[in-house]
Amino acid sequence: MGPKVRDSMKILCIGRNYAEHVAELNNERPSEPVIFTKPETALLRKNNPFYFPDYSENIHHEVEIVLRVAKVGKTIAEEHALSYVEAVGLGIDFTARDLQEKAKSKGLPWALAKGFDFSAPISEFVPVTEFTDLGNINFSLEINGEVRQQSNTRMMLFPIPTIISYISRFITLKIGDLIFTGTPSGVGPVKIGDRLVGKIEDKTFLDFEIK
Ligand code: MG
Repeated sequence: MGPKVRDSMKILCIGRNYAEHVAELNNERPSEPVIFTKPETALLRKNNPFYFPDYSENIHHEVEIVLRVAKVGKTIAEEHALSYVEAVGLGIDFTARDLQEKAKSKGLPWALAKGFDFSAPISEFVPVTEFTDLGNINFSLEINGEVRQQSNTRMMLFPIPTIISYISRFITLKIGDLIFTGTPSGVGPVKIGDRLVGKIEDKTFLDFEIK
């Protein structure tokens, strides 16, 4: 008998979903959602520290609202999309910007720049029923006590129902999958010794260190 085959969850991410962030990186405003993935090994939970890896000299923070998928779905209509969200949390889409710029300049994939180990710290999740409107959630990231990123989900270029519907045309959503919904402006490098605090509304969801 071979090893047990495990059915694992996946992490789906949206790039370029806030206009001011698109502008700060001099990217083109997308006409369709930009989708990429991270492997499960990217997850970093329970506010464990992030250890700065040796293959990058420029890792950027990207704070994002993260959705957890409630049920299996394929070709989901926008009007039903919100019923596929079970819980909401906060995450960081750590990006090795130097590796990403190198890949982008050659037209190569972002897999390593976005998917390296522990590139996806996530908070605890809160049931979706605790939010009155997923299209109106304030969230922020402070570094060493200073607010660096702050926005509201209403500023998304592609709102949550559109994202879910779009992804599910190509990739079947399954229970427990995570969707990173894009970062607002204010991204920048982290360094060893930084303390990152992420909030949804006034509540702290993330609080961890770079080591
Ligand atoms: Mg991102």
